[in-house]
Amino acid sequence: MEIVCLDLEGVLIPEIWIGFAEKTGIEALKATTRDIPVYDDLMKQRLAILREHGFGLSDIEAVIAEMKPMEGAREFIDWLRERFQVVILSDTFYEFSAPLIKQLGWPTLFCHRLDVTSSGEIVDYKLRQADPKRQSIKAFHSLNYRCIAAGDSYNDVTMLSEAEAGILFKAPQNVIDEFPQYPAVETYHDLKQEIIKASNRDISL
Ligand SMILES: [Mg+2]
Repeated sequence: MEIVCLDLEGVLIPEIWIGFAEKTGIEALKATTRDIPVYDDLMKQRLAILREHGFGLSDIEAVIAEMKPMEGAREFIDWLRERFQVVILSDTFYEFSAPLIKQLGWPTLFCHRLDVTSSGEIVDYKLRQADPKRQSIKAFHSLNYRCIAAGDSYNDVTMLSEAEAGILFKAPQNVIDEFPQYPAVETYHDLKQEIIKASNRDISL
């Protein structure tokens, strides 16, 4: 049995925090896991900036409601789900991602939750578990699934290394250079072909 695990932001949807930074003009919110590899450091910085500017969940939701999945993402995920079991492993939060996950046809998503007060202030976040992407692959292995994983950034590397096959998709050059052991592709067409190559079944395009 095989399962394909995909990262979400940068693979199927744009970076949510970058969209928010562009709308609000707060440059410091453009930092992502590509810039700050330790996720906890990155999230602490983001929440501090939100507090400083008085932004709550509803402000962020308003921005996300205007966002769309990446061009071709819905067709890609539909293609993939016809051929594989698919789970999205993301470091985003259910509260942020729902409007975009809906546009992708509600694929299964394992991510985190925000701690939001009744007035909508984001005070903290709850990670589902430490090292969640690697732990998810380990769990699928314990269920006898062979795992093919694709992601674009530092926070995907544990997932890629734990899986039987790891693929970089639209990764920045520094990540491609640092992890030459993974094939790096730029289009959904090429990603499909890498997934087919990694599969131990006979899959057609
Ligand atoms: Mg990503």
